[in-house]
Amino acid sequence: MQRRAEEIRRSNRGIGFVPTMGFLHEGHLSLIRKARELADVVVVSIFVNPAQFAPNEDFVSYPRDEARDARLAEEAGCELLFIPSEKDMYPDGYSTFVQIDGLSSIWEGELRPTHFRGVTTVVAKLFNIVKPRVAVFGRKDTQQALIVKRMAADLNMDVLVHVAPIVREPDGLAMSSRNTYLTPAQRVEALAISRALRLAESRFDEGERDPEILRAAVMRELAGSSEVRVEYVAVTDPVTMAPLANNDAADEMLIAVAARVGKTRLIDNILLNKSTTS
Ligand code: AMP
Repeated sequence: MQRRAEEIRRSNRGIGFVPTMGFLHEGHLSLIRKARELADVVVVSIFVNPAQFAPNEDFVSYPRDEARDARLAEEAGCELLFIPSEKDMYPDGYSTFVQIDGLSSIWEGELRPTHFRGVTTVVAKLFNIVKPRVAVFGRKDTQQALIVKRMAADLNMDVLVHVAPIVREPDGLAMSSRNTYLTPAQRVEALAISRALRLAESRFDEGERDPEILRAAVMRELAGSSEVRVEYVAVTDPVTMAPLANNDAADEMLIAVAARVGKTRLIDNILLNKSTTS
């Protein structure tokens, strides 16, 4: 991969890179199409990164289907699919980790304390291997995208990090490889998450700016679904993800939710700003 990347760069073409854990869906494919728009050659990686899973998480059961992924990625415009092995990425004696302070230890990071260290480590490694000019990430994992941006800026990485919108199922559920864990009944219950975020959006569009009131509206909607166990509802500044307090009546805010439906952990979020107000 490093040799191919070097050849591409020497031929004066820019690489657009989309790192994934595979089991591709329309959300991933939208990132691949965006990378095509922003660069000359698109590289997609598939690596279920053990370093970002805690021992009690779903590393072993994470869905995998490389043959299908290869077909879908190619159809969306991927030219090079990079599928390293665990040994390639973490050979015996591996001992270097990238850790971003602050943002890595709130919200997702508080509940998954080793998660973002695994993410930033693997993304830094992948950037060194693939040498992209542009990397495309999804807003679905909005905290991850902010952390990767922070890392690229802090470590002077010569890559533009582009963040693309969330792709949803027609009924509103944010697409995720983990949705395959849901039973049909749980999938219906899971709709409460996107419904709650849309509710907050309409309250915001009607002029509500009090973070606590918006948070309470989301909590109330989620509480209406007996199967949904909320882990957090974060009403935050969209750049720092610092929580907003009552007197912070901001014209731009991010509401992020993590919840369990059965054993499946789902995350979703919505960005609210004045321009969404008609
Ligand atoms: P994953 O394979 O879940 O690690 O995700 C790989 C990339 O796809 C990340 O940048 C995610 O944010 C992005 N992604 C996952 N789901 C969606 C979605 N529903 N819409 C947009 N991007 C997504």
